[in-house]
Amino acid sequence: MSSAIQVRELKKSYGSHMVLKGLDFQIEKGEIFALLGVNGAGKTTALECIEGLRKYDSGVVTVNGKMGIQLQLSSLPAHIRPMEAIRLFAKWNHVKSDYAMLDAFGIKEIEKKRYIQLSTGQKRRLHLALALISNPDVIFLDEPTAGLDVEGRLSLHEQIRKLKSHGKTIVLASHDMAEVETLCDRIAILNNGTIVFCGTALELTDTVGRKYFIHVKTQQGDRVFETDHIEDTLISLLGELKQKKIHVLDMKVDRGTLEQHFIEMARREAE
Ligand code: ATP
Repeated sequence: MSSAIQVRELKKSYGSHMVLKGLDFQIEKGEIFALLGVNGAGKTTALECIEGLRKYDSGVVTVNGKMGIQLQLSSLPAHIRPMEAIRLFAKWNHVKSDYAMLDAFGIKEIEKKRYIQLSTGQKRRLHLALALISNPDVIFLDEPTAGLDVEGRLSLHEQIRKLKSHGKTIVLASHDMAEVETLCDRIAILNNGTIVFCGTALELTDTVGRKYFIHVKTQQGDRVFETDHIEDTLISLLGELKQKKIHVLDMKVDRGTLEQHFIEMARREAE
């Protein structure tokens, strides 16, 4: 595999606030790569420096291929129709609108509506389609599923995987650990201006463990159980609750927040 993006010693400050303290990473062609970090970690700043939209203080950034960019926040004139926007962007890029692609992004279903009438998910699909108009090789998506419901999220994931199957390189920013674990080939975690982890989801699990949190609501109150062995813990927990005749009102399992994983990483490093 050859590289689509190379970032070396990338530094960026806003006044006295140093947001990027020397990022180093490489993204291979055809990869889905995630920049993961809590709010304010510097994901958007890093993406915009790589995209050439923001000046950086020092470092070297190389992008091989044509770029397509979906910004975190974008807007279009309230009364423009999706197809008008598509034709406008196609004209700017000196390309013909790709109707097959527009079909895949469900733009046909919304072509009669005006921008102001679109839902968050429909707007995101439209902006993604606009980012793809010029048939880019490297696609940047800044928190593409923010504000989407489960269905919208899954459908966008499917479209992102489809882009990968067409040989595109996809770089996305997210703070959702669960999302990037299933979607991305590699993940870089940005914390306090540096990359604290870069590797596959499996390597991340090897580093921080496969920690689960089981939230149980019963008439006696709410409790949270932490475990590395979800199946065994669930079986014994449910068995115990049944034996004690405690009725479960609600139960939820999650993988914890990024902050919890950082704390775990820091604890292991200290050990
Ligand atoms: P989020 O997940 O909330 O989108 P992020 O990881 O993308 O956050 P950035 O938007 O890159 O983070 O912001 C990183 C830090 O830089 C934050 O502390 C933010 O307040 C600051 N920052 C971002 N843009 C500017 C700016 N134009 N001027 C000054 N400070 C900024």
